[in-house]
Amino acid sequence: MKIGTPKEILDGENRVAMTPDSAKMLQKLGHECLIEAGAGERAGFLDADYREAGVTVVDGPDALWQGADVIAKVRPPTEGEVDRLDSGKTLISMFYPASNEDLMKRAADKGASVIAMDMVPRISRAQKMDALSSMANIAGYRAVMEAGNNFGRFFTGQVTAAGKVPPAKVLVVGAGVAGLAAIGTSTSLGAITYAFDVRPEVAEQVESMGAEFVYLDFEEEQTDGSESGGYAKPSSPEFREAQLAKFRELAPDIDIVITTALIPNREAPELWTEDMVKAMKPGSVIVDLAAERGGNCKLTVKDERIVTENGVIIVGYTDFPSRMAKQSSLLFSTNVRHLLTDLTPEKDGKINHNMEDDVIRGATIAHAKEVTFPPPPPKTK
Ligand code: NAD
Repeated sequence: MKIGTPKEILDGENRVAMTPDSAKMLQKLGHECLIEAGAGERAGFLDADYREAGVTVVDGPDALWQGADVIAKVRPPTEGEVDRLDSGKTLISMFYPASNEDLMKRAADKGASVIAMDMVPRISRAQKMDALSSMANIAGYRAVMEAGNNFGRFFTGQVTAAGKVPPAKVLVVGAGVAGLAAIGTSTSLGAITYAFDVRPEVAEQVESMGAEFVYLDFEEEQTDGSESGGYAKPSSPEFREAQLAKFRELAPDIDIVITTALIPNREAPELWTEDMVKAMKPGSVIVDLAAERGGNCKLTVKDERIVTENGVIIVGYTDFPSRMAKQSSLLFSTNVRHLLTDLTPEKDGKINHNMEDDVIRGATIAHAKEVTFPPPPPKTK
């Protein structure tokens, strides 16, 4: 099959779904690779690098979409891109099908197969294809870098000839994939790091990374935050109040807050209120990784960096992985390559879209003229 990657067309998107290295691996599976000229440039991969890796570089999107049987890209397709699909083609990209139903139906009507990278089931066998985790890991790391860039002091404490410098105090709210990456980055830079999550089972992971888990003064045990599959459920009003009271107590003392708290299929819970921002010291920084879904901080402005009246900087960017386009492209393209390995079991350049396979079935949202989302639960762990 011919696997092709177009240039991303969303403004400001720097990632690319195929790298020279991933293309080499795809060729080992018996596939041919195509790339649109300039598609990798913003991620640091030049057309010459692709050519050297045996990839055919084609001019413009028309040649790419017409020439490829499988199109691998990062962002969900636009309507125009969906209209380029037909029954002979497979699209692999992020899709967020629950928020893009019309687009999904349109792709199914075209007869194309669509595999949503964001729907890869979170089972052990599929970890190597889990693009949500790869991107969350990068976002968590980058959030700390962004905080450091905006913060006027060191993360680590120092005793210097010119004076003693206290370490920064960082609070990470939400200890999923992004939160744990932020915690690891923050502790490795030497900050005193605290973390909170409604799922108490993550306390051990938080502590193993050198951070302190924030426990609540809550009468019931802090055990009501988890739902099946390791995701959070909405907190009870009492739990939420206890959580906010704890944050209010911490706010004047914390220099950097990184919020990552999300609940599947809902707006992000509001956890860092206006009065908490007002209680923070001037020069403190909040990086709100939940900005895309409404933000965990009341004052976050999506895609903006703002400074409040009391001098607190709030960063609400939603493109952290794209800001580290080379790293993100390397990981995303590897996730795609692993998926294509499973789709090419005989390594003969032929795609076997096996709907009996848990991972392929779970991620497929359109196939054989049908919308196949939502999928049944996976049979394996
Ligand atoms: P997510 O992005 O959905 O949420 C981020 C974090 O926010 C979660 O840890 C959640 O508990 C927390 N949160 C929600 N409400 C909160 C609140 N009010 N206060 C504080 N924290 C709050 O999560 P994620 O990073 O996608 O990870 C979710 C789960 O999936 C984890 O258990 C993770 O280990 C698991 N996971 C499994 C696999 C796998 O098995 N392949 C891969 C990735 C993640």
